[in-house]
Amino acid sequence: MPINLDDPKKFRPLRSQAHQVAMNMLRPISRKYDRAEHEYPKELDMLAAMIDGLSESGAGEGAGAAGVRRDDKDQDDTVKNGTNLAWAMAIAERCWGDVGLLLSMPRQGLGNSAIASVADDEQQQRFAGVWAGMAITEPGTGSDSANIRTTATLDGDHYVLNGEKIFVTSGERCDAVVVWATLDKELGRAAIKSFVVPKDTPGMRVERLEHKLGIRASDTATISFENCRVPKENLLGSAEVDPKQGFAGAMATFDNTRPLVASMAVGCARASLDLTREILTEAGVEIDYDKPALSQSAAAATFLQLEADWEAAYLLTLQSAWMADNRKPNSMEASMAKAKAGRMGSDVTLRCV
Ligand SMILES: Cc1cc2nc3c(=O)[nH]c(=O)nc-3n(C[C@H](O)[C@H](O)[C@H](O)COP(=O)(O)OP(=O)(O)OC[C@H]3O[C@@H](n4cnc5c(N)ncnc54)[C@H](O)[C@@H]3O)c2cc1C
Repeated sequence: MPINLDDPKKFRPLRSQAHQVAMNMLRPISRKYDRAEHEYPKELDMLAAMIDGLSESGAGEGAGAAGVRRDDKDQDDTVKNGTNLAWAMAIAERCWGDVGLLLSMPRQGLGNSAIASVADDEQQQRFAGVWAGMAITEPGTGSDSANIRTTATLDGDHYVLNGEKIFVTSGERCDAVVVWATLDKELGRAAIKSFVVPKDTPGMRVERLEHKLGIRASDTATISFENCRVPKENLLGSAEVDPKQGFAGAMATFDNTRPLVASMAVGCARASLDLTREILTEAGVEIDYDKPALSQSAAAATFLQLEADWEAAYLLTLQSAWMADNRKPNSMEASMAKAKAGRMGSDVTLRCV
């Protein structure tokens, strides 16, 4: 299947709408909620209702996090520009406005994408409209997510969860958290499953919120689980531990969410480049795309280099989302996109400053 790297025509309205939202709704309240760390940005309620409306009416394909689902029944031989690509593009535009506010959007958490990626149809319906955070990271486990220690033990009709999760985005504000836990540490990564844990479940406690240097509008929580009982129907996907499948169930979440996280870096870095270009223009520095970088001023040459780096991350991000839409295995591309865009985001924003 050929990949066409132009913006799909059908997503242009969605993208332009996301850009307007970033410019007219997010940027004006950006500084306010950065200063008022942990205060809920109530202005987002209206925006979230609008996204809900678009998703329900079907008018806004990919308008919400719950749209990132690989559906067998939609699959034929045609090339698709679907919800993963649309949502990746919309997220980049909103993050051009403010990443912290994008992360604070009700019902659009990474947990919602996790549910969309792994839940069966019944669960999909049961958890529709729930605002879900995602809890994988633990005090002793970050990048090596196959090494988590939180346990889930079957007891009658419930799983009993014990452990501690850190850095849970929207951990205080959300309605439920998708928690990764192991059914049996001895069985390795195949025993890792995800569980939807509603916030009022006894035994689950938000311990504290982190103070951060950036994206301060977004709450980042530590959550403990002590004999926390969740109905066994809240295990997402299959309860079977199949060593042949390995990490497949859990990875399906990452395959769909990593391109979205990459998009956040892409949007934020684009905003830095746009502002830097304005400042350079005001200062009389010309950026000439037809002249060799080394014969231009150092600032212009650096800008060209940063822009090329941005483009590489952007294209890889679109490719990994597009592959998800077309049911192509994308674990490698999604991982690379997130790593590349993350590094590019740091490099570009720091150099622009
Ligand atoms: C603002 C924010 C929000 C977050 N939100 C969530 C959330 O909602 N849910 C959630 O579950 N988690 C969340 N996280 C956690 C995030 O996913 C982890 O921080 C990430 O997985 C990295 O883990 P770590 O911080 O333990 O770093 P580490 O894994 O300890 O990595 C530290 C450094 O070592 C490098 N490194 C790691 N392993 C290797 C290796 N094998 N070889 C070479 N280098 C290596 C890494 O690249 C990195 O530079 C959030 C984090 C932040 C900062």
